Amino acid sequence: MKAASIALQKKIEELKHRAFKAETVSSKCKSCGTCIRICPLKIREFGDDGKAITTGQCYGCSICTRKCPNNAINLYIYHIDR
Ligand code: SF4
Ligand code: SF4
Repeated sequence: MKAASIALQKKIEELKHRAFKAETVSSKCKSCGTCIRICPLKIREFGDDGKAITTGQCYGCSICTRKCPNNAINLYIYHIDR
């Protein structure tokens, strides 16, 4: 198998140290369910107050933030030491 280029190896190393969190601004969420339907990891669901929340590990694809019709989801990126 061909070795990954230096640039790709650098990118992979960088990604290993990233964590993501998709957080709902509950005052903006209108409970439409769009993010729950489209999250590829199925980690969005309605919380007790009827607002959508993230319940599992987010990998930062950003589909929910881009598709939420109310701009109610913020995606945070953290640096972590592994
Ligand atoms: S797409 Fe936005 S408004 Fe709709 S449920 Fe998700 S967070 Fe709430
Ligand atoms: S950023 Fe992607 S993986 Fe994370 S909660 Fe949103 S849709 Fe799911």
